[in-house]
Amino acid sequence: MKKKIAVLAGDGIGPEIVPAAINVLEAIGAQCGHSFEFTSALVGGQAIDATGWPLPDETLNLAKTSDAVLLGAVGGPKWEGLDYERRPERALLGLREKLGLFANLRPAKLYSELADASTLKREVIDGIDVLVVRELTGGIYFGKPKGIEATATGHRGFNTEVYTTEEITRIAKVAFETARKRRKLVHSIDKANVLESSELWRKVVIEVHKDYQDVELKHMYVDNCAMQLIRNPKQFDVIVTTNLFGDILSDEAAMLTGSIGMLPSASVGSEVGMYEPIHGSAPDIAGKDMANPIGMIASGAMMLRYSFDLVKEADLIEESIQKVLAQGYRTKDIEAPGTKLVGTKEMGELILKNLGQE
Ligand code: NAD
Repeated sequence: MKKKIAVLAGDGIGPEIVPAAINVLEAIGAQCGHSFEFTSALVGGQAIDATGWPLPDETLNLAKTSDAVLLGAVGGPKWEGLDYERRPERALLGLREKLGLFANLRPAKLYSELADASTLKREVIDGIDVLVVRELTGGIYFGKPKGIEATATGHRGFNTEVYTTEEITRIAKVAFETARKRRKLVHSIDKANVLESSELWRKVVIEVHKDYQDVELKHMYVDNCAMQLIRNPKQFDVIVTTNLFGDILSDEAAMLTGSIGMLPSASVGSEVGMYEPIHGSAPDIAGKDMANPIGMIASGAMMLRYSFDLVKEADLIEESIQKVLAQGYRTKDIEAPGTKLVGTKEMGELILKNLGQE
């Protein structure tokens, strides 16, 4: 297989962690007979410094003509005073919009070796592997009417939760397709006992499910889901939900696993998917060889699994991460007594070395 990958390293720790992911992807390509061509472009603050804009046309064109985008992180104190439209973070919104990325996939997978870093008991969280599929471009964040208006006694603020059949259908398909590459179980989360938009959500998800009978579908109200994620997170495989519920539940699920440096994410929807760690540019540790590259490397594994259907190759990367953790190596953010402290570069090299090793 031959694939073109746009590399947008960005700011802060971005340029430190992205090379680790590229090295691992190149090695897995060589091992399994695939060729990945990487082309870099400017994004975020580094793009503002060079061109005045966070998402130059050249970068957008590269992203659009690639098979997938690998992104480090954007932002930092240097650009915080700029107008909203010129801030580094605008590049992310621009890429999501222009690439038609309406689904956000956020896994919360716990590596057993890190179970003690979680606030929950080991027996509750050991072995969790949940994927939240959040609708990203609809729902209450975008629905109209919205606003704040004067009333006789003060003010009234309002937003509107709106979902169309088309929007629900396409996100449900992403969830079922994704579940097929995992343990084939989807929990659809709504509030169908109270909200009409949720009533439609549930109806459409059931309709879409008719084409995915090999995947099991369960429904759960959002309040119960929030509780079940803490009580028994192992019952979940794929969770599909709206923009608002997904925003909250994906953070809750992510924090079950402990460190922000460990977690990858994917934004998908059209032909080109975008893969990035969930953390930001971490300016406090940038340039110090202290950043944990695992979230970035795991984002590369997600790219293989979800954009290129290379499930075995993605598994190999995740197994290598697991092995390095089992050998006791830790970056500063996940350090614990009795473990071996390594920097960004060494952690990347260790994951590379363990790829495909028994
Ligand atoms: P952050 O995620 O960058 O950092 C939060 C804390 O987590 C910091 O203490 C940092 O050192 C630590 N951390 C983050 N990633 C780490 C890693 N890989 N290894 C070890 N420690 C890690 O969030 P923030 O400090 O709120 O934001 C910093 C900048 O990043 C801001 O400009 C913000 O707008 C931007 N940001 C960008 C993205 C993105 O590019 N997707 C996401 C969030 C924030």
